Amino acid sequence: MNVPFNKPYLTGNELSYIEKAVKMGKISGNGYFTKKCQQFFEENFGFNKCLLTSSCTDALEMAAILLDIKSGDEVIVPSYTFVSSANAFVLRGAKIVFLDSLEDHPGMDVDKIESLISPKTKAIVVVHYAGVPVDMAKVMDLANRFSIKVVEDAAQAIDISFQGKALGGVGHLGTFSFHETKNLQCGEGGMLTINDPGLKKRAEIIWEKGTDRAAFFRGEVNKYGWVDLGSSFLPSEVTAAFLWAQLENLQRIQSRRSQIWHDYSGFLASLDRSYIPKIQHLPYLELLRNELDKIQEEFSPIVLQKDPGNYHMFYMLFPSLESRTKFSESLKSKGILSVFHYQALHQSEFIKAYQGIDNTPLPNAEIFADTLLRLPFFYELPEVSSSCI
Ligand SMILES: *Cc1c(COP(=O)(O)O)cnc(C)c1O
Repeated sequence: MNVPFNKPYLTGNELSYIEKAVKMGKISGNGYFTKKCQQFFEENFGFNKCLLTSSCTDALEMAAILLDIKSGDEVIVPSYTFVSSANAFVLRGAKIVFLDSLEDHPGMDVDKIESLISPKTKAIVVVHYAGVPVDMAKVMDLANRFSIKVVEDAAQAIDISFQGKALGGVGHLGTFSFHETKNLQCGEGGMLTINDPGLKKRAEIIWEKGTDRAAFFRGEVNKYGWVDLGSSFLPSEVTAAFLWAQLENLQRIQSRRSQIWHDYSGFLASLDRSYIPKIQHLPYLELLRNELDKIQEEFSPIVLQKDPGNYHMFYMLFPSLESRTKFSESLKSKGILSVFHYQALHQSEFIKAYQGIDNTPLPNAEIFADTLLRLPFFYELPEVSSSCI
């Protein structure tokens, strides 16, 4: 068997839309396809304003500029996340105050935020790990009480809501990723959502490299110049054209990912193997299940992901680093690639040197760093896994 961890998925129209973008004669950013994508998100997810960026990392850096983060400010960030969630604020000179994960879920422990708030706290970064919604009602309540801005790092959380509102659209700002490992993809790509109307005008200026060029092209000002900080955040039309092909197929992508998630969960959990997978990848699931049964004779408990979130990933939790490594190696020897995830950021060499302190231990984040393992998860998994048996 030869099952990769991830395989980028082409919906079918990517190349023809790229050709169209090229033939339209404008392949820099903010053209036909960029506007189409932004409008799709605004209309379908109720985001106030959307700006495509070349990555989620870029969108987070825009958020840090937009919130005027500077030296002396503190930003609360979960430890169990990708570096960009914190790095964007470090670039502006902020001190990062790390938040632990929940005991039974790698997502952040919202009830511990208040104890980390100080008069210097300027922002809270919310990460919806595995596309499982964080309790935004509690976060926004704290934000309002302490006048703190909220940035939702919704990189993994496209197409899922909390109390009827799409994630990424609840905090003052939201960021998304369309990296080839996410549900919707265009190679490298991202988006900033601006939900606080007071931040809209400046967001566009920062996006346009610190100029009021967008307003100029709309005829609102008669010349454009350097009016603020900014940088190169726009993706080209080639990238936006690729993304548009994915957006048109959002429902199909999500329903396939939902089936894959439920097949993993149902089949691996069903003790008497009575669960019938909905799509044809039974031999692959059986092989996985056999390896799981073997490892369970030696180590327990092994816990499967409970909440599907937006079907971004399927993970398992092991009782120790040793058992995780053993299972992952046994899958690898059968040609199946499984991958662990983040190292806890508060323990990284960089942040210790940068902030000059040893951060207080965050036991849950440290445990997930050692015990979480993700199984292969991509649109064509059923075809790939049944064709290579
Ligand atoms: C993927 C990811 C990012 C980075 O996204 P890029 O588009 O690669 O910059 C940031 N935060 C989280 C939580 C992610 O999962």
